[in-house]
Amino acid sequence: MAESTSTTTALRLKNKVAIVTGGASGIGEATARLFAEEGARMVVIADIQDELGKEVAASIGGDRCSYFHCDVADEDEVQSLVQSTVKAYRQLDIMFSNAGILSPSTQTVPELDMSQLDRLFAVNVRGMAACVKQAARAMVEGRVRGNIVCTGSVGGSHGALASTDYIMSKHAVLGLMRSASMQLAEHGIRVNCVSPNGLATPLTCKLKGMREEELREVYQKFARLQGVVLTPKEVAKAVLFLVSDDSAFVTGLDLRVDGGFVQNH
Ligand code: NAD
Repeated sequence: MAESTSTTTALRLKNKVAIVTGGASGIGEATARLFAEEGARMVVIADIQDELGKEVAASIGGDRCSYFHCDVADEDEVQSLVQSTVKAYRQLDIMFSNAGILSPSTQTVPELDMSQLDRLFAVNVRGMAACVKQAARAMVEGRVRGNIVCTGSVGGSHGALASTDYIMSKHAVLGLMRSASMQLAEHGIRVNCVSPNGLATPLTCKLKGMREEELREVYQKFARLQGVVLTPKEVAKAVLFLVSDDSAFVTGLDLRVDGGFVQNH
């Protein structure tokens, strides 16, 4: 039976092949689901939580979503993620480099635990760079005018009283994104960041020791913009904008999804 025209034209990622790192949970999971809903031909969830990642992929549908174990801190694993995606699905259109970890609030400058900083940088900075690098190579080689989006944070635009290494790492993500957007523009590849304010996800719930509803209320209380709750789906919608033709001339942008929290940049 012929596809309905209205449905077909509404799908913004029709035939696209996407990788979502950190796609087993939180923002990554919501984005993987939205990509599939928007017609992506295949969404590859890359994560280290194998059971959860496989469950999420199965719930989205095996014909549209698969799971690949990949620790982004290991460049060989990132390379094999990208290469096997291209081999299996013939191309890579979208890299959502989203995997990241938080640091405890004890990471103030005088108390900085350098091994903790190294561990965090291995994922948030080195891992992010490996994902952007390997995706860029595959897109250039495959002559794909692809889209790369990195997850930053409002913490990339201001200092903080704690979590110094995390704040440093998200500043570094902006430097990576801005450089990559300049270097890849000649190939038609766009590179942008999505930078959320704090929101309740398994990452933050675990750190704060709170349930999702409880933490959502806390964030809402301190939010500037009232009447809307920041959820992983809201972040996913911003990512969808950045990887779709709706933002066809947008590159090098740090799209803050923060309800006006950061005002001075
Ligand atoms: P989450 O913990 O729900 O999801 C992160 C996912 O990344 C998890 O599934 C985890 O297993 C995976 N991951 C962690 N280390 C990995 C590694 N080495 N290799 C591959 N996957 C790995 O957290 P989230 O809140 O959805 O975070 C996603 C991104 O959003 C992170 O980069 C985080 O810094 C950023 N962020 C979160 C918030 C927030 O308040 N939740 C705010 C701003 C930015």
